[in-house]
Amino acid sequence: MILHLDKNTDPAIKNRLAKKLEAVVIEKPTEILMATPSKYKEVPEEFEKYIEKAQVFDTDMQLSSRHYKSETREIDMAGTLIGGNTKKTLVIIGPCSVESEEQMELTAQLIKKLGLKMMRAGSFKPRTSPYTFQGMGLEGLKLLAKIREKYGIPFITEVRDNSHVDMVIEYTDAIQIGAKSMYDHSILRKCGKTNKPVLLKRGFGTTIQEFVQASEFILSEGNENVILCERGIRTFETKSRFTLDLCGVAWLKQYSNLPIVLDPSHAMGYAFGVPDLTRACMAMGVDGLLIEVHPEPAKARSDASQQLNHAGFEELFTTLKPIAKAIGRELI
Ligand code: PEP
Ligand code: MN
Repeated sequence: MILHLDKNTDPAIKNRLAKKLEAVVIEKPTEILMATPSKYKEVPEEFEKYIEKAQVFDTDMQLSSRHYKSETREIDMAGTLIGGNTKKTLVIIGPCSVESEEQMELTAQLIKKLGLKMMRAGSFKPRTSPYTFQGMGLEGLKLLAKIREKYGIPFITEVRDNSHVDMVIEYTDAIQIGAKSMYDHSILRKCGKTNKPVLLKRGFGTTIQEFVQASEFILSEGNENVILCERGIRTFETKSRFTLDLCGVAWLKQYSNLPIVLDPSHAMGYAFGVPDLTRACMAMGVDGLLIEVHPEPAKARSDASQQLNHAGFEELFTTLKPIAKAIGRELI
């Protein structure tokens, strides 16, 4: 249940109710919310007079659901609004990893040329082997901040573990929580305590229910600005790196109030399939696309096989525009 209480509710009553219903208390500027486990379906009689509204749920998908908020949340991505009634699809491009100043200069120049609004690049990389490039760390964050300053392009970068969450939050405009960190509660809770947008990627072995419940860890800490990112799940198929779950996206669009970003690059794993898959993602009518683009993919220090080169992305971008138009969306 989500209970809505008056902002001036007596703290003693608030505490008693929260304890009785095992509720998480979320202090909002205009009201107090209590999120209880979804097994509770009724307000105890003695507390009824303090409750302005009670919403009952079938599952623990609560704050992220359309039952709680029927409209998709509007989120300010460093000056660019997505979700809500905007009908905008934010195209976020950039390399898998920050590798050098020249690489990020070229990325920023491509973004400027195409009139896009946000760049991506990881500096703390959650790799599948300890013997591969782990990212530039703080040095990479500083480099991204320098490029942002020079070109006026905000960035999203990922947090790998709890040791550097605060550092990433300090530098970045939007935080990416990677697929392998989707279950890391220390990261989720810390990201819940900031107001910066959080792009939460679906773990590749998780159900949609587990995915949305991970988002509830962030939302229930008070951060309203969560975006879900589908990036492919593991199936029996091995010809592509993962399988992009577009059916899951259709479900999320129907039942969740969180904006959705699709990442065709990590799902496909090979550059040859990324343009077709991106067009399919565009046709899904989502709030954003995350595409890995590198000035020289063959030399990339991570995810070399799936990154598009700049010419390849430009060609793809041209073909996305009519699809956006056909479904009444604007590419930004
Ligand atoms: C990435 O975006 O570069 C990345 C590591 O993605 P994922 O967490 O989806 O594997
Ligand atoms: Mn990558």
